[in-house]
Amino acid sequence: MNDRCFVEQIATNDILLHVTNVCSMCYAFLEEGANIYYDMHHYRYLCESCKEELASQMNEECEIESDDVGLFV
Ligand SMILES: [Zn+2]
Repeated sequence: MNDRCFVEQIATNDILLHVTNVCSMCYAFLEEGANIYYDMHHYRYLCESCKEELASQMNEECEIESDDVGLFV
């Protein structure tokens, strides 16, 4: 887990109105007061489940490592 790759925030009305009100990956609606996660490497907000999924694919540098591409190239 590389939780430090994300900034945990509470979805405020301000964020929802001016930045985004949907998760950038699954497009789920973000509700006011929900925990949301700012992906510092990709400049986007994610819901908690997408953050978890992405974090599990990231290396120490917060880069997304793919386990099914490039292994045998
Ligand atoms: Zn999501």
